[in-house]
Amino acid sequence: MKFIDAHCHLCHPKLIEKIDEIVENAGEVEKAVSNGGSPEENKCTLKIAKKFPEFVVPAIGISPHYVENNSESSINEEIERVEKEIENVAAVGETGMDAHYFKNLEKQEKIFRKQIEMAEKYNKPIVVHSRDAEEKVLEVLREYKVKIMLHCFMKPELVKEASKIAYISIPTFSSSKVKEVIKKTPEHKILAETDAPFFWSGLNEPKNVVFAYKLIEKIKGNSSTINKNAKKLFNLV
Ligand SMILES: [Zn+2]
Repeated sequence: MKFIDAHCHLCHPKLIEKIDEIVENAGEVEKAVSNGGSPEENKCTLKIAKKFPEFVVPAIGISPHYVENNSESSINEEIERVEKEIENVAAVGETGMDAHYFKNLEKQEKIFRKQIEMAEKYNKPIVVHSRDAEEKVLEVLREYKVKIMLHCFMKPELVKEASKIAYISIPTFSSSKVKEVIKKTPEHKILAETDAPFFWSGLNEPKNVVFAYKLIEKIKGNSSTINKNAKKLFNLV
């Protein structure tokens, strides 16, 4: 059986320095959707997608973290660069909103909407971060007709509503919330991700996505739809 890591950050400083090793050690993990979020990460993501075209599925965008720490003019410049490269990527991401670490939600929403509109215009899926802003994010997304992946979605009580418009991605750790999210996500909307380098006792990497597949298999009795879902969402062959 082969696996797909639906969300990671291979251009994170901790991973990029050992990228050759990571790709080599990926084993049965055949593809990894690697997300940018800043000008440097986006540039790097395009570069590694060229170097490893079979393995790296590129997504570029502007993350809530970058939005919080930069001026609107530099954010807008990067949005323009993302648009210029849009035909070379599988998705727009990582974007979204974060109310856990950041407070300027008005600015975040504005930049999030610009990226949704771009994804909609070019018919690309959008990779969405929603930590502690899940309800607001869903409210915004409902206004558009865009293909959506909610990465590391941790609100079981919103899964029923969220899965009507989005794919829900399961991380590489287990908790009562994660289990509840898996239970409530329909089989045709479930994905698995590492969010590498995060969410692992050491450094996470794509090969560990197998953990999420096994957890889904254990709870739902089936993990065979995950690859189909990822291929459909990201238009992979
Ligand atoms: Zn992420």
